[in-house]
Amino acid sequence: MRTTPLKAKILLVEDDRVQAQFVREFLERKGYEVVWVENGASAIKMAKTVPVDLILLDLILPDISGHEVCRWLRLNQDTKGIPIIMLTVKTNITDKIAGLEAGADDYLAKPFDEAELNARIYASLRTKALQDELKERNRQLEDLLHRLEIMAITDHLTEIYNRRHFEETLKREFARALRYNLNLSCLMCDIDHFKRINDTYGHAAGDSVLKEVARLIHSSLREIDMVGRWGGEEFIVLLTQAKKADAKKVAERILLSISAHKFQGLPENEKITVSIGVASALEDADIDNWEKLIKAADEALYRAKRNGRNRVELSES
Ligand code: GH3
Ligand code: MG
Ligand code: MG
Ligand code: MG
Repeated sequence: MRTTPLKAKILLVEDDRVQAQFVREFLERKGYEVVWVENGASAIKMAKTVPVDLILLDLILPDISGHEVCRWLRLNQDTKGIPIIMLTVKTNITDKIAGLEAGADDYLAKPFDEAELNARIYASLRTKALQDELKERNRQLEDLLHRLEIMAITDHLTEIYNRRHFEETLKREFARALRYNLNLSCLMCDIDHFKRINDTYGHAAGDSVLKEVARLIHSSLREIDMVGRWGGEEFIVLLTQAKKADAKKVAERILLSISAHKFQGLPENEKITVSIGVASALEDADIDNWEKLIKAADEALYRAKRNGRNRVELSES
């Protein structure tokens, strides 16, 4: 943890040259790097272009007031996080409040004691370092949370949605379809004779086929459709606002893209095929909940298997 603000760069804004020289020498003796400017416009320009860790800002400057400089620095994205300590001969409470309201972090009345100046600089830099660290930790935490959220809904092998997330989405979409009278279709896809692929080429080759099949199905779909891994070598697709005839076309596109695909790591003549069952809410009168939609697609799938595989069957409405 960086709590010792060594080697910090301090922007000193002071129009009184004698005073500036005095402060500068003191700060340099303390190991700080000092950039000195004499007016408000140069201060703003410098803070924007040179990364500084802290600003010592005189209140009365020849061009714009320290309060104005402060306000501007706080509004600017690149400079709003830099700690500002206001320096002034004015010691009345109204000025102090105005300075703090303009966004200064601290206030120091001239003539100031060197030890006090040093302590205040140190405290400001340390606060800033801790704030930065906290921000960074929060960012890392958000990042981790985001990755965990994705992991929770993703099938680790195929990187498409897992069954739980698919079910949750289907429940929601089904309710919506029912309420607004929208078409909703479901495809259940199962790889044909997949056990033989595993037995012949090994489990790792089987895994790689599963990944490829998931990718091929995914790339046959529209942006608004959704594919999930239902079980071992079974995939499920949800087509929103798609009639059964549209769903059949999508299923046939998937069938073709898989049967025509040359799978990595398998011999040229080894073909992979799938069987697909299609069901649709609304068009199938008896489908009045999401589970029945899946069941109907599953029954159609088994008809596709019975009728010779590598084919699409529709549920009977
Ligand atoms: P059918 O055409 O009737 O669907 O025949 P099939 O061989 O595909 O069906 P079956 O259900 O008998 O076999 C499915 C196989 O899928 C069995 C199982 O070992 C394999 N499998 C399930 N999950 C995975 C996985 O994650 N990786 C690999 N490599 N194989 C898996
Ligand atoms: Mg001045
Ligand atoms: Mg199966
Ligand atoms: Mg199978």
